[in-house]
Amino acid sequence: MTRVAIVGGGIAGLSAGICAALNGFETHIFEKHSIAGGLCTAWDRKGHVIDGCVHWLVGSKPGNSMHRIWEDLGALDGVKFVDQDEYVTIVQPDGRRLAFPCNMDRMYEEFGKISPEDRHLLDEFRRAVNKARGIDLGPDIGDPWWKRSLAVLALLGIMPMFMRYDRVSVGDFAKRFKSRELGLAFEHFFLPEMPMIFMIMSFAWFMDKNAGYPLGGSRVLVDGMVKKFESLGGKLHRRAPVKRIEQRDGRAVGLVLEDGSEVAADWVISGADLHATLNDLLDPPAPDQRLQSLFETNPPFEPLAMVAFSMPRFPEGVPLGVAGSVLRLDKPLDSGGKQVEGFSFHPFSVDPTLAPEGRTVGLAMVEAGWEYWNDLKDRKDEYQARKAELASQVQALLEQRFPSLRGNLELLDVSTPWTFRRYTGNWRGSYEGFLANKDNYRKPSPLTVQGVDRLLLCGHWLRNGGGLPTAAMTGMEAVLLLCKREGRPFKRR
Ligand SMILES: Cc1cc2nc3c(=O)[nH]c(=O)nc-3n(C[C@H](O)[C@H](O)[C@H](O)COP(=O)(O)OP(=O)(O)OC[C@H]3O[C@@H](n4cnc5c(N)ncnc54)[C@H](O)[C@@H]3O)c2cc1C
Repeated sequence: MTRVAIVGGGIAGLSAGICAALNGFETHIFEKHSIAGGLCTAWDRKGHVIDGCVHWLVGSKPGNSMHRIWEDLGALDGVKFVDQDEYVTIVQPDGRRLAFPCNMDRMYEEFGKISPEDRHLLDEFRRAVNKARGIDLGPDIGDPWWKRSLAVLALLGIMPMFMRYDRVSVGDFAKRFKSRELGLAFEHFFLPEMPMIFMIMSFAWFMDKNAGYPLGGSRVLVDGMVKKFESLGGKLHRRAPVKRIEQRDGRAVGLVLEDGSEVAADWVISGADLHATLNDLLDPPAPDQRLQSLFETNPPFEPLAMVAFSMPRFPEGVPLGVAGSVLRLDKPLDSGGKQVEGFSFHPFSVDPTLAPEGRTVGLAMVEAGWEYWNDLKDRKDEYQARKAELASQVQALLEQRFPSLRGNLELLDVSTPWTFRRYTGNWRGSYEGFLANKDNYRKPSPLTVQGVDRLLLCGHWLRNGGGLPTAAMTGMEAVLLLCKREGRPFKRR
């Protein structure tokens, strides 16, 4: 039996593992952590589950290609989704608030009242979102050429809209507003560098109820995928960090684990961090300039520090919604190597399974400097003290903005950019790989490595903008390539 060894049991590695096992390969996943899931993870603190990932999952609605991918991967077994009315609420230092609804008619109505002279921009946005609604960005991975051609033809009508808005950043669009308040609401949809098409598609998915929150959070998705992988005969090796991808005569021939054990393989797929795969796991480093140059041209997502609190489930005046709120600050907060002008705060009130009755987890996410936290990590006392200081600064700001939280917050956990790196190996602590911008959005990276045959890649670094869907899709696409090379038909279910 042809043996496939996969590095990393994140969503991409699990997706590749499930597809490889389904297609008749002897499949082993080697995951360095004690649990699978990578960044798609959650951890327990004082009777609460801190979910470090999923806020919304594209493909939550049955009947489209992304939903079929999740189903085929076993991620949705018994999962119930919740769709929320609001995306995010911007809270200004003076207490003014503006909620960005997931409903475009409501957005037009409410935002239009704030700034009638910006109605043409709101209308432009609403029209683009309405055009994008119901669009299936398929084709289904593995479809024959004629089905793929039909899927492309179906997209022809919206191509001009795509071409127009993938060359405009959200920040550029936001600058066109006369009202600074409305401009800020747009800017705070994720990040201003992202292309406008990303925001348009996201709101189309919200409107179509195709980007819901899965009750139970990240764990249920991962548990479903692990179950599917193991039911197909795949072997998940936990606490099995890979030290090296063995090469002989220009091809990958197996793995060497940190404990020295060797694993022979006919094919290797790496779902681990791309930078580490190319430069640490391969010795000598991969000569592939197509991939190596990405690290010079593409900025990664700025890493995060996250502070988790236990809090009342529905405290008065605290915005909920898909991304919670963005607190704009009157003076910058030093988050360690970075002065931030605001941070987001997301109570998981929508999900009662994550906390004792009447409580929820409130997660503050603050952009933080990679170098700062990476340097500090070896000075353990200082590192802990700085974490505690950041937590108390964040707590004070939350209590000042939301009086109902005063005396009602209990600190559960603090993580830093270094925590992300330590647990998942992601380069510079990035939480979604490379940031998508108007210059790189449409530039998918290859899943092969020049100079190393029989090595395939998957994971969020290979599709700018990252996220769970791209991780899952690249895992499947890697096995599609593998099947082609082995001369086997590819199947998904
Ligand atoms: C706070 C936060 C919120 C997010 N919210 C969303 C959201 O709402 N929706 C969405 O779509 N996406 C979201 N994301 C992004 C999403 O989590 C990631 O893009 C996705 O999980 C990446 O999956 P991956 O498999 O490509 O990589 P990873 O998750 O990084 O997986 C890589 C795996 O490889 C393992 N590994 C690394 N090196 C080795 C080695 N040497 N040996 C063995 N194993 C190794 C790691 O331990 C890890 O398990 C969020 C991320 C964060 C952090």
